[in-house]
Amino acid sequence: MASNGRNHSPFAGANERYAENVNPQFVRMLHTIGFDRTWVSSDGAHIVDDEGTRFLDLVGGFGMFNAGRNNPAIRAALIDALERDLAHSVQLGVSSYAGELAGQLLARLPRSLHRVLFTSSGTEAVEAALKYARAATGRPRVISADHAFHGLTLGSLSANGNPEFKDGFGPLLPGFEQVPFGDLDALEAELRREDVALVLLEPVQGKGVNLPPAGYLEGAQALCRRYGTLFCVDEVQTGFGRTGKLFALEHWGLEPDLVTMAKSLSGGYVPVGACAMSRHVFERVNDSLENAVRHGSTFAPNELGMVAGLATLAELDRAQLVERSARLGRLLLELTAPLRERHDVVAGVRGLGLMWAIEFGEPKRGGASWRALERRQHGIFSQLVVGPLFHRHHVLTQVAGHGLNVIKALPPLTIAEDDLRLFVDALDDSIKRATPIPWAAIRFAAGAGLRSLA
Ligand code: PLP
Repeated sequence: MASNGRNHSPFAGANERYAENVNPQFVRMLHTIGFDRTWVSSDGAHIVDDEGTRFLDLVGGFGMFNAGRNNPAIRAALIDALERDLAHSVQLGVSSYAGELAGQLLARLPRSLHRVLFTSSGTEAVEAALKYARAATGRPRVISADHAFHGLTLGSLSANGNPEFKDGFGPLLPGFEQVPFGDLDALEAELRREDVALVLLEPVQGKGVNLPPAGYLEGAQALCRRYGTLFCVDEVQTGFGRTGKLFALEHWGLEPDLVTMAKSLSGGYVPVGACAMSRHVFERVNDSLENAVRHGSTFAPNELGMVAGLATLAELDRAQLVERSARLGRLLLELTAPLRERHDVVAGVRGLGLMWAIEFGEPKRGGASWRALERRQHGIFSQLVVGPLFHRHHVLTQVAGHGLNVIKALPPLTIAEDDLRLFVDALDDSIKRATPIPWAAIRFAAGAGLRSLA
């Protein structure tokens, strides 16, 4: 269907137009699991479809709505900025708000960080860290962790610890290697060669919500210091209150050389990212007038992103969202821990703040149907739970990564306590409905549709 985008509602036929002009496979996948709704509005922790049905959103835009969807204070700051006809992106001049936002970020980050380079996304913040680390150290190699996710541009992808994302896009950058998350011996074996520019780690891994073993992150930082390697903590997903601290690195008192951020920095309104770095790293790269600008992009920093960033920090403080995340995260673990006793198929729950996951494993009873399902597609059981959560209970959740039997939640930190309780009841019911595993589901999983989901 041809469309000039002017004469009709943007909502009617949105899925069809997307299929025709953007990505038919994605729309097919949404259709297969019945997620092809037409979304028309959102507020706080809810999204609303074109029939007026409100869904509780536990995906939170993959973690970009920590301050709540359509947060009115952030919106007001943006409207005010738009109405003032600012001198956007003069380029041969500085953004009026970037210095202030950088200062506010640095005041909240560890003392080891002194400069902020703004970007327009998380992967670009990671690319900046990779480039600065190589240039600052003169070394080629980058070590990240198995199951790591740092974005999908070629540099970040080279640091990715999931083969599913990399397949078909090679050759990736040379000098990138992954070691098991949590294994300091494996890390030290790489660092001992003294050719590693950067160790890049998520404090809590997003794919699977993997928490670091005790002492791991501090140990990794100490090893980096010993072998002259820079240490970068990727806070793109864990930042801005997600784990119950403003930055997850605070849980372990880390003082890295670089920190990457994005997602919730702008309250979800404007694409924005940032890479904070030590004075040492900055000065090794931007070391002269000639080298004043060695990395950047047209939209970064842009005034709307900066204004939204300032308003987001103010809103996190005003509404005490970091403390709220810590408190509600504890409650969520408390409410979901009994699911392990109630359902044979629940292997465990874990989380930090409002970054939470439930993992499923082969039940003692009904193992044959579990194995039959898993043979079709490893990790597909989670989809049998995500389905009723969405269709019966109007709760949006996500499977946490390729081949993992994990469902993950990253709700807006504004979520009401009652809504968390509603989610837990809905989860309990949905697990009940998925077990024993219906043979119809196994037959269905054998078809092309479900295979592409986990
Ligand atoms: N780093 C981490 C830890 C992430 O979780 C993500 C995205 O999910 C990225 C980097 C990439 O961010 P973006 O999608 O904004 O490029």
